[in-house]
Amino acid sequence: MKTITETKSIVRLIVAVCAGLGSLSAAIMPVPDKISCAVADRQAFTQPDQVHLNGWLGSRVMANEANRLVKIDVDRLLEGYRKRPGRQSWDGEHVGKWLHAATLAWVNTGDPALRQKLDYAVAELTKCQLEDGYLGTYLEKDRWTAWDVWAHKYNLIGLITYMRYTGNMEPLQACRRMGDLLCNTFGDEPGKRDIIKAGEHVGLAPTSVLEPMVLLYRLTGEERYQEFCQYIFRAWEQPNGPKVISTLLTQKRVDKVGNGKAYEMLSCLNGALEYYRTFGDPKILEACLNAWKDIVANRLYITGAASYGELFHDDFDLPNVANVGETCVTVTWIQFNAQLLRLTGEARFAEQLEHVVLNQLFGAQKCDGSAWGYYVQMEGKKPYSGTLDGHCCLSSGPRGVALIPTFAASTEADGVVVNLYDAGTAKLNLKDGTPITLVTEARYPAEELVRITVGLGAEKEFALKVRLPAWCRAPSVQVKGQPAALTPGPDGYVAVQRSWKDGDQVELRFKLEPRVVVGDHKNNGKLAVLYGPLVLTADADLLGDQVKGIKSVAFSSADLAALAVAPEPSPDKYKSWPGAQVFRVNAIPRQASKSGQPVTTVPIRMVPFADAGANGSNYKVWIPIGQTEGNLLLEEKESRSRQGNVSGSITDGDPDTFVVTFEGKPAAEDWFTVTLASPAELKRVVFVHGKTFHDGGWFDASAGQPQVQVQTAEKGPWETVGVLKDYPSTTATSAAGLTSSERFTCQLPKVTKSYGVRVIGKPASGDAPQQAFASCAELLAE
Ligand SMILES: [Zn+2]
Repeated sequence: MKTITETKSIVRLIVAVCAGLGSLSAAIMPVPDKISCAVADRQAFTQPDQVHLNGWLGSRVMANEANRLVKIDVDRLLEGYRKRPGRQSWDGEHVGKWLHAATLAWVNTGDPALRQKLDYAVAELTKCQLEDGYLGTYLEKDRWTAWDVWAHKYNLIGLITYMRYTGNMEPLQACRRMGDLLCNTFGDEPGKRDIIKAGEHVGLAPTSVLEPMVLLYRLTGEERYQEFCQYIFRAWEQPNGPKVISTLLTQKRVDKVGNGKAYEMLSCLNGALEYYRTFGDPKILEACLNAWKDIVANRLYITGAASYGELFHDDFDLPNVANVGETCVTVTWIQFNAQLLRLTGEARFAEQLEHVVLNQLFGAQKCDGSAWGYYVQMEGKKPYSGTLDGHCCLSSGPRGVALIPTFAASTEADGVVVNLYDAGTAKLNLKDGTPITLVTEARYPAEELVRITVGLGAEKEFALKVRLPAWCRAPSVQVKGQPAALTPGPDGYVAVQRSWKDGDQVELRFKLEPRVVVGDHKNNGKLAVLYGPLVLTADADLLGDQVKGIKSVAFSSADLAALAVAPEPSPDKYKSWPGAQVFRVNAIPRQASKSGQPVTTVPIRMVPFADAGANGSNYKVWIPIGQTEGNLLLEEKESRSRQGNVSGSITDGDPDTFVVTFEGKPAAEDWFTVTLASPAELKRVVFVHGKTFHDGGWFDASAGQPQVQVQTAEKGPWETVGVLKDYPSTTATSAAGLTSSERFTCQLPKVTKSYGVRVIGKPASGDAPQQAFASCAELLAE
């Protein structure tokens, strides 16, 4: 247990440091609400100064503060308010989101530099409020047309969080004036505006102001804010409304609510749960639980991502690339689970939190905390960026990480609960006020042992509840060296109920093992590998010399023994924390050998999704099983006439990932090209259609079928060698029954030595004649 001992000294050191800050942080007494809630939380919301993490989770929490939140240029956040309109229609949201995240981070660290920034931002933001209470970034003539109720939402969330923890109530007047303006502007009485029409996504965006309006009601006791919240519930059910609660109670599907926009809908549901906490209408909780069950069962990616193209789609419609995994959705999904965990006290929500935090959330955060990804897909490259321009997700990600200490450990009626496992300290109070300290030593999830030492004054009886992770087949719990019963209670936790003494220890062992998930639906014929709580990912940087690239990786079968997954310490460039690991796995080359030689196993290293693509490399979660037909274009260089807005590939041997040439503009022709590193003798070319959209995605064959062209000299001219003769009789507006991934073969008139291959044709425009585009899933050649 050498590493535990090492960790221990680090833990002690950090505890000592935190104790210094702790005395400062302990002075933080949140400003109480005027209105108490009708529904008592089953698990308390833990104030971030009570929990200090310093393992892997802690490293990400600290990086979020030190490399992102404290480095934000506050004047950039305020730019659109100081000089309206902002540079971009939802630019106003960033300052409120930052205030929320930065306040939580400041409560956690006590960093005076961050506090100074917070005070400055609050003073400067409130100066920008107009006479009538308006605090958005729009010009008067454009008010309430798109994203300014939305900006008021985030300003209220940010300012209320700031007031609650700093005790500086100066912004209260600004918040009341914002609330009053919303109440005076929107309503179903004559002369007031319809809030559904005041923003995007069937009104889901503007009505998500519900959450802070409930908070403002509780803080001030002002009844008109409660009435405004009731109006939002009525507006949802209006003929033009998104029918949030009624749909979730009857159809029980989130993709049927409004237009299915995931971030805005989850934001509304987080507000609905805040309303339920305050007033206790059980139908609201039922609707939200239906939404949760539906997402978990039908609409969740293996990493905890919950949308593609920013929407919830049909059951199991989860493509690996198609603007998958918006980080705003990841964060609102975390908030939704954290809300449900508080309200119900059930471990199943903590289980989801662990999974989404360790995989999708950390996968979106650059390991050093400095940047974030917008869409963090199941394969491709991580789109890390540090700029806020147009990037809603870059100010959402830090909110998710700043929330981790609030649910990592908690208090409930019977005692204390541990939800997430990480080295660190939690200073909690039992319901009767008795202070309890939990010191955790762990290198989770790199090592199986988690040791929790209880610190308290006098001997005391209470329950210490622990969550046995669902992925773990063989957990064990020992109390003072004696095995404890492992049967979870109705809430899903194992409760160790006893009379505790200072220094008593609980040792949890979560046997870390690999497991495989065989893909279904869109991942038929593919495999994902997991290790403990981690989703593993093939990374182009770690494949070794024997594998050409990420598209050339396959597994021989789903047999775990044949994969021989084994953890190893990470090489330096992937060492994002001291316990970081990579995983040796037996792969095979995707491409069958021409000579029919037996398949040779090639060891590769996989990396946790959180660390994948950290250095800009290509990564992939779902790996094909078995070898592909001989395809001379596999992994060769691809290009297309227009870049489009889908980041798939046509040379990966995977017909489910596709590319488009969509740019919202017309074009006379579009092409998809593969250029070979060295020339190959081609006999036939196969074009696999991508996807048919309402506004195009196919070739218009009315003036001729798509042509197949080759280059017979390096960088030479394109020569037409045939057409896709089975291509249907499409027109600009009709796809003539063309289906996704449909294949069309062109037999070349003779074997042709080629340096490049392309398919070229006229793009179609569907129901949007001002533009046209084509799509392609795969270009193959033999
Ligand atoms: Zn976003």
